[in-house]
Amino acid sequence: MDTKAAEGAEETLDPADWEAMRHLAHLAVDDAIRHVRDVRDRPVWQEMPPAQRQAFSAPAPEGPRPLGELYRDLLDLLMPYPMGNIHPRFWMWYMGAGSFTGALAEFLAAIDGSNLGGGNNAAAFMDRQVVDWLKQMTGFPASASGTLVSGGSMANIIGLTAARNAMAGIDLREEGVAAMPAPLRFYGSDQIHSCHQKAVELLGLGNRALRRVPSGPEFRMDLAALAAMIAEDRAAGRRPACVIATAGTVNTGAIDDLPAIAALCRREGMWFHVDGCIGALVAIAPENRQLVAGIEAADSLALDPHKWLHVPFEAGCALVRDAAAHRATFAVHPEYLEEKPRGIAAGEYLHDYNLQTSRAFRALKIWLMLSEHGTAKFGRLIDQNIAQARYLDRLVAARPPLALMAPTVIDIVCFRYAPEGMDEPALRALNTEIMLQLQESGIAAISDTTVAGRHALRVAICNHRTRRADLELLVDEVCRRGAALAAA
Ligand SMILES: *Cc1c(COP(=O)(O)O)cnc(C)c1O
Repeated sequence: MDTKAAEGAEETLDPADWEAMRHLAHLAVDDAIRHVRDVRDRPVWQEMPPAQRQAFSAPAPEGPRPLGELYRDLLDLLMPYPMGNIHPRFWMWYMGAGSFTGALAEFLAAIDGSNLGGGNNAAAFMDRQVVDWLKQMTGFPASASGTLVSGGSMANIIGLTAARNAMAGIDLREEGVAAMPAPLRFYGSDQIHSCHQKAVELLGLGNRALRRVPSGPEFRMDLAALAAMIAEDRAAGRRPACVIATAGTVNTGAIDDLPAIAALCRREGMWFHVDGCIGALVAIAPENRQLVAGIEAADSLALDPHKWLHVPFEAGCALVRDAAAHRATFAVHPEYLEEKPRGIAAGEYLHDYNLQTSRAFRALKIWLMLSEHGTAKFGRLIDQNIAQARYLDRLVAARPPLALMAPTVIDIVCFRYAPEGMDEPALRALNTEIMLQLQESGIAAISDTTVAGRHALRVAICNHRTRRADLELLVDEVCRRGAALAAA
């Protein structure tokens, strides 16, 4: 075959017209700047109309469509209907508010295109540097290891897998959980995040292996109850392996007694894991860092840059004090992935520290945001959110029939509209309706939960755009709607 003709027939995904691509990309940047700059002027959330939603039922496109036309579709179909978490009045669940710099970094990371499974490239050096920075920020020793993962759930799985393997009493990777001499037990408070249940199930230990230690009136783990459970398990021939302390529970923001749990783990020869997805970075906040003192003593720590560092999803991080134990948990060297003395495959494979092989270039968005603002500013922003939560706590306390439902420790406030004489089911129905009305009107996004058996509205202020006036508006709207509903 004639090579010239064959060349003419070869295709690529690169644009046929780079100038047209430049034009479209510039347009997208201009729209993106407006989108983020003016977020406060839009509703937090709006339901997607059925007609627009229909677009997502179209079958796989066999032929092409012009990119410019597709981009206009995205402006109509996608951009007006986000979850809302970049809005200043989004306080649902627990997540960051994003940042333009972070979005720019996502673009540049994709342009660089490196696969972070490997090691001898600038992206990989940046990945290791970001892990080092997170160790420094949380007080972990330089000798510790770490890995950037999808989020807190995966970061906890990394830590708990290292804990299981270190405590199993056998070569667990070779022999499997069935060969363990005694069943392992992990302990967390009854406020522990649901990802830990998935973790122990995945680790082959079963949900029963995760014992829920009762929490006290401040929703912190009851340490006397913990000690009693450990003794009971030992007496029954089970092996107490790991305590999972939470620094910032998802329900109320409670922080377990980290120094006391660290000491207990040392005494008992157990692994000390901290779920710091919410609170680990309080360690960089000058006014509140004492709340998480002791976190640096953890054997493993899960933290979540896509929460209080506001990097775009996804970004979590697992730190492990004993780097050798961490590596021994995940490293494998198949014949097609051997490290070489020189070239592209030189240097340590980053996939040896977690479950993935291919890995996203998550480091760049963390690196760029931390470099642009400095850790001190992130610390101040964390303090700012905590001060805002305490302000909301005071607004609620001063405004009957609002009632606080849990102590406000960091940036989470639990309260409800509670007129006299309503029973629990009626209060639940009333407050659920208030919450849904706030969401559907686009005024504010808050969530709900149950604390100590009682329904509560939950406001989690992990948001660098929130102002105190937004919280005043929330309180006014809850009272106005609550009064109208209670009267009806
Ligand atoms: C958010 C959170 C998780 C899970 O993290 P993801 O990033 O959502 O996977 C785990 N534990 C706590 C305490 C959390 O707040």
